[in-house]
Amino acid sequence: MKMTRRDFTRSAGALAASPLLVSGSGMQETPTTSSRRLRYCIVGLGRISMDHFMPACKMSQAAQVMALVSGDRKKAEGQAAQYGVPAKNIYDYKNYDEIGNNPDIDAVYIALPNSMHAEYTIRAANAGKHVLCEKPMATTVRDSQSMVNACRAAGKKLMIAYRCHYEPTNLRAVQLIRDGKLGTVQAIESAFGFVEKAGEWRLNRKLAGGGPLMDVGIYSLNACRYLTGEEPSKIEGYCSTIDKDGRFAEVEENVSWTMRFPSGIVASCNTTYGGQMDGYYRVHGTKGYLHVEPAFSYEGLHLKAEIKGEAPVDEPNPAKDPSQFVAEADYFARCVFENKEPRSNGEEGLRDMQLINEIYKSCGLKMS
Ligand code: NAD
Repeated sequence: MKMTRRDFTRSAGALAASPLLVSGSGMQETPTTSSRRLRYCIVGLGRISMDHFMPACKMSQAAQVMALVSGDRKKAEGQAAQYGVPAKNIYDYKNYDEIGNNPDIDAVYIALPNSMHAEYTIRAANAGKHVLCEKPMATTVRDSQSMVNACRAAGKKLMIAYRCHYEPTNLRAVQLIRDGKLGTVQAIESAFGFVEKAGEWRLNRKLAGGGPLMDVGIYSLNACRYLTGEEPSKIEGYCSTIDKDGRFAEVEENVSWTMRFPSGIVASCNTTYGGQMDGYYRVHGTKGYLHVEPAFSYEGLHLKAEIKGEAPVDEPNPAKDPSQFVAEADYFARCVFENKEPRSNGEEGLRDMQLINEIYKSCGLKMS
């Protein structure tokens, strides 16, 4: 019989091994090797790397920006000056493989458009570097599997940058559920979306692989999996495009999907590029519910719960951006230094890609 994640987390002593609950939040842990820093090569100088991840490395005690990869030399030089990166450690997309000859680089952080993740992960693994790759891990199941295989063959760590796995409010929600505070969980609702502007690579099928499901719907999908601790046994989706202004010539505008988990928990999720949907989830159980909104933002996360016989829970999280990226960068450093498998490893990313593939198939769409 196949063991579901829920069976696993329920089995004796398994709670400690639950992917999201290993040694607390991951946030407050100090690296055991405090004098060492993981030296990252940043691949792609865009919004997520320059506005969030690189500033986080500056605040981190376990991470450091050591090299840059960019097609824009001027931009790279500007960033290099800010982070003390020597000119010899600036690469472009052509000479990227030369990072293999640079012993100052331990790992790469890949922050490129989705369809480029696989190539730059595989090239990094072949160059002997560990990989922290942004979500979604790729645009096809096959590419995702190739990334896992390449890192495994090279003996290098692969972590997908699911920052919510290391974020205290999300971890607290998981803990309340695992502690049985909600009783038996019955149903989950979740959504995440925003209005996408014309001209963004996220609307280009070749680069993005799909629409909002790939980009932000994946947060709801992944959350339903970590909240239940199970893998969906049934999944079905619908998609639509309402705005005919040219933005959605290549990718869908809206996706709605439902899931049934082995225990019987049902979930329903929505994602869009056509309206502002602050990311949230609501989990209903026999003894009460919990609601996290925002649940996936960089800051301002807020957990509320109403549980029979207990005082209402109302917990705003005061942490400011880029604290989630500090936790993520530090956590990956610890995985490398302590030779531990990351919680959000390549297989975890691959499972989401397989499920996204199923959702698209049931919508009558092909993934990439
Ligand atoms: P962005 O457009 O701001 O940056 C993309 C970078 O890739 C730019 O430096 C751009 O110059 C470079 N690039 C190289 N080749 C390109 C090409 N052919 N077309 C377009 N850009 C090219 O994007 P972003 O918002 O930083 O997203 C990058 C990745 O990070 C995506 O995979 C996205 O899903 C992910 N992301 C994750 C989070 C998170 O919270 N974890 C948030 C935002 C984005």
